[in-house]
Amino acid sequence: MSAIEILWTLQGVDREIDQAIARGTRARAAIGQVTPELTRARESHATRSTALVDAERAQRGLEWEVADRTARIRTLDERLYSGTIRNPKELTGMQTEIDHLRQSLTDIEEKTLIAIDAAEAARQAANASAASLQRETSAWEEDQAAQRRTLDEARRFVASERARREAITAQIPPPLLARYADLRKQKQGIGIVAVDRGTCTGCRTSLPTATTQAARTGNIVTCSSCGRIVYGGR
Ligand SMILES: [Zn+2]
Repeated sequence: MSAIEILWTLQGVDREIDQAIARGTRARAAIGQVTPELTRARESHATRSTALVDAERAQRGLEWEVADRTARIRTLDERLYSGTIRNPKELTGMQTEIDHLRQSLTDIEEKTLIAIDAAEAARQAANASAASLQRETSAWEEDQAAQRRTLDEARRFVASERARREAITAQIPPPLLARYADLRKQKQGIGIVAVDRGTCTGCRTSLPTATTQAARTGNIVTCSSCGRIVYGGR
């Protein structure tokens, strides 16, 4: 293989390494990052869980009031019909109190029915948000595992390709290798490009016939437009 052919092989390896590094970098950045979907699901479930606790507390409070009034009415009824109270004024007063308590009990019972419905609705909403949170959490965990796998694979790939790269660079004359390294720094990682039907594939400029021919015969020539070394093929 000529020096230019080896350089062309090196460019292929370098591009693979660069791409693997980019994949690994993206994966590393994503590891530990909570997605907006998961954040929304967490917030939604937290809100609905709080709403459920409030609704159940309201329901219990009303149920307690119902029990309390029912007991007070029973006590007053028992006293009223026990025959121990004979004072008409006192009897009338007790009857009035019982009437008030019954009215109040009716109101509270209605509110309790509404509160029971509200608590049931809150329970269903909380169950739905819990299921949604579970789904989002599973999806996130799967994605995290995939990102870790991507990072591991990228690391392993880069390590093995770097070993291959060393073996290749050993076969390239140091001045050419240095030139290629400079070009890679200046030209987004691409120091040598193929010629495709007389055109530089690095910058899409038509190359003079002399350049194309020189490249085809294995000479080291560059594109006058982008400055990269052009590879004319075997
Ligand atoms: Zn070019």
